[in-house]
Amino acid sequence: MEFFNTLSGKKEIFKSIRPKKVSLYTCGPTVYDYAHIGNFRAYVFEDLLKRTLIFWGYKVKHVMNITDVDDKTIKKAQSAGKSLREVTDKYIEAFFEDIDTLNISRADHYPRATEHIKEMADMVKVLVQKGYGYKKNGSYYFDISKFKEYGKLAKINRNELRPGERIESDEYDKKNAHDFALWKEKKPDEPFWESEIGPGRPGWHIECSVMSTKYLGQPFDIHCGGVDNIFPHHENEIAQSECFANKKFVNYWLHCHHLIVNGSKMSKSKGNYYTLRDLIKKGIDPMVIRYLLLSTHYRKMLNFSFETLAQSDSALERIRDFLRELKERSFEQGKNPLVQKFIDQTGAEFAESLGDDLNISMALKSVFNFVRKINKLLSKNQVYTEDSKLIVSALKKWDEVLGILPKDEDKELEASIKEKIDQRNKARKEKNYALADKIRDELYKQGIILEDTQDGVRWKKR
Ligand SMILES: [Zn+2]
Repeated sequence: MEFFNTLSGKKEIFKSIRPKKVSLYTCGPTVYDYAHIGNFRAYVFEDLLKRTLIFWGYKVKHVMNITDVDDKTIKKAQSAGKSLREVTDKYIEAFFEDIDTLNISRADHYPRATEHIKEMADMVKVLVQKGYGYKKNGSYYFDISKFKEYGKLAKINRNELRPGERIESDEYDKKNAHDFALWKEKKPDEPFWESEIGPGRPGWHIECSVMSTKYLGQPFDIHCGGVDNIFPHHENEIAQSECFANKKFVNYWLHCHHLIVNGSKMSKSKGNYYTLRDLIKKGIDPMVIRYLLLSTHYRKMLNFSFETLAQSDSALERIRDFLRELKERSFEQGKNPLVQKFIDQTGAEFAESLGDDLNISMALKSVFNFVRKINKLLSKNQVYTEDSKLIVSALKKWDEVLGILPKDEDKELEASIKEKIDQRNKARKEKNYALADKIRDELYKQGIILEDTQDGVRWKKR
């Protein structure tokens, strides 16, 4: 497989540290608000990467951090008059609901920053002992002039930066780099932790340095994020971790490009800002959103609009119709050797395209060509029982990477809900309202809401 490595600035053959095993770290959400579709572009790209690695036979250990203390979370808690934990718990729950909605597979670990404060203070202590960090008032900073390789990821010249100035904010501009905060001193009205280096809280960058290597070791294979994470966040992670351990931090850095809406940057003030929840409320099928986020190559700008959503909808519908037809149509006994040939060809193209720096456009093209070729055979009644089974299982296999087709579990769920609704109808007819209510409550606990309408009982997912 080949991936474009931001660190070397070119496509490289991927070689994992341990055979057939990949350690993967992806920067997770800062839980101060609902995630927007730009965030989900990155999470869907990372999901595609992970599923592709698994498809290619790797075992993946995936860690995604949760930033539950930083400038933004603290500000949100202050303005809402709530504790930090109350605010972050709420948005962590929402985050997990959202990734499930988009069929993003779960990571192996979701470490929370606030549960790793001691390790962070320890890393700061060592950096200071080694001369890379220094204390000013109660805060600690990283001295970028001490790390000769500073700027190697973002391709910026360290000599053009302005060393010696200190910045507390976690995010800053490329042209305006300063020594960055490792540890921020205790301030009135801000949460703080007692530690060996004094009371305070960690800077944002040290959170990822500590939590990635704690679970994956150093070096590990792949670190991902959006392009806006390259500088300063990932540059600073490299500086901290490499100075701390005297060895390379990460072998491959993969970054996805921005998402724009109708050709312009997404912003609340322009009214083109969407959370996933905003779109679901408009009645948009989450799998259509997933398809759209997935189908543009990760290193290209993705233009999100209601037109591109409609295109994704019809592309997805083509595959779904195809699958439905195969499942519902009755076939004659027999086998057409062309079908297996098409499956093998498509499978090889599909794997090869994804192995070429996740060339999703080519991979999807192969699948649609396959659909076209099989549709032709279907129209001539040249598909038989054996073939239809092979086609369905091939589609399912490719969908282990794409994650866009309905699951069979949905059918089982539907059947079991229908059975319960029938039981409830019967109970109501017999005026056994206690039983009817009990059935309704049970379904509610499973996440199913019943609606009594003129046309009978309808159900939907909560
Ligand atoms: Zn990070």
